[in-house]
Amino acid sequence: MKLPNYIDLAIIGAGVQALTLTTHLLQKSTKHYRKFLVFDPSQTWLRQWQQQFAAQQIPYLRSPAVHHPDPNPHQLRTFAEHRHNELFPPYDRPGTKLFNDFCHEVIRRWKLADKVYPAKVIQILPIERASRSRFQLVLDTGETIITRRVVLATGSGKVQLPNWVEKITSDYPSDKLCHSQQVNLNQLKLTGERILIVGSGLTSGHLAKGAINLGATVTLMTRKQLQEKIFDADPGWLGPKYLKNFHAQTGWYIRYQQIQQARNGGSMTPDMMLQLRKAAHEGTMIINECCQVRNAQWQDNLWQVHCHDGSRHEFNRIWLATGTKFNVTEHPLLQDVLEIYPTEIVNGLPVLDEHLRLPKSNFFIMGGLAALQIGPVARNIGGGKMACQRIVPAIVKPSLASE
Ligand SMILES: Cc1cc2nc3c(=O)[nH]c(=O)nc-3n(C[C@H](O)[C@H](O)[C@H](O)COP(=O)(O)OP(=O)(O)OC[C@H]3O[C@@H](n4cnc5c(N)ncnc54)[C@H](O)[C@@H]3O)c2cc1C
Repeated sequence: MKLPNYIDLAIIGAGVQALTLTTHLLQKSTKHYRKFLVFDPSQTWLRQWQQQFAAQQIPYLRSPAVHHPDPNPHQLRTFAEHRHNELFPPYDRPGTKLFNDFCHEVIRRWKLADKVYPAKVIQILPIERASRSRFQLVLDTGETIITRRVVLATGSGKVQLPNWVEKITSDYPSDKLCHSQQVNLNQLKLTGERILIVGSGLTSGHLAKGAINLGATVTLMTRKQLQEKIFDADPGWLGPKYLKNFHAQTGWYIRYQQIQQARNGGSMTPDMMLQLRKAAHEGTMIINECCQVRNAQWQDNLWQVHCHDGSRHEFNRIWLATGTKFNVTEHPLLQDVLEIYPTEIVNGLPVLDEHLRLPKSNFFIMGGLAALQIGPVARNIGGGKMACQRIVPAIVKPSLASE
């Protein structure tokens, strides 16, 4: 594809949220079809999502069948008409293959396959042109392009590591201590190994199950007691039940706390909890709740781990399922933009306007960074849909445009 000099809208990232945005945009205005491009180094839609699901051998989604990138909430169920065994109770959670096939169909039906320009955006420079503000995107291919609007949909945030990781003084092979994003169960042989998994979210459950299947014994260590929840945030956050009060709250710090409380760290689904307890009963797993690592050192090909409760353990590997953190001040693409469009920042989250723009700009942000407006589900598929309801009108209605 030849890169044009100028476009109306650049969407950065080709993940689930960006795909949701494009279908919602085209549903409202097909004339926008020629006006936007999506940038992602992975060249195609949803590569990162699919790789994570494959690497962690995740059999089905956590969210129900109504959450997907198409504007019609029933579309996935219709698509699954002859594949009901791939919808998992409760709430018909779609199997991974079903969801991926469905997204493929969405991309085909909305003619989006050739909308991804294969490049990483490495810098965004706000520029003034004939007294109008524009953005110049600098790509890792060396090319540049001018765009009137930007939607930042780059996803997962910055990897979060516990403090003790920085204090490891011994050298160790990089594959012996990894963040969950770097683990690929399909490339490992773990027979007879002991693995420490840190973290209480569903990801640690998936990794524990995968490692046990590969012949390892797993210790799951969690700071708090494991929590059992069907979804990571209560579905009341998808509608007025909780959002009415959330949006009435004008204190941004209070909103931030409400988001933290609603997510309350990680949680396990009841079916995962059942499998983990079963593994613990069978002796392939130790669940060590309310325990934290004080210190770890790599010695004689093993991790020597000391915990705050005084216990000592040895492991072959450590996996950190400790999540990611959303922080605009650390986002490499936002530094120049925030200088020109000063924005209040609350514990790393930007205070966006009601259309999810940095104030007085045509720079939109969706995903976890939009949580002060969208609420605790901002990073999820459902949150992506809510973000579209705010972003799309500002793009298609001239009266709402920020010039
Ligand atoms: C393992 C896992 C399972 C999940 N399961 C569910 C679930 O069942 N239901 C649910 O609602 N949510 C789930 N989530 C949460 C959330 O829906 C996903 O994280 C989802 O992928 C978020 O979509 P996204 O588009 O914001 O980010 P991503 O899917 O991460 O996409 C971001 C894209 O941006 C690209 N990108 C990044 N930087 C640049 C750059 N500088 N230039 C160009 N492109 C760039 C990346 O290559 C990537 O393709 C899950 C998350 C994980 C990690």
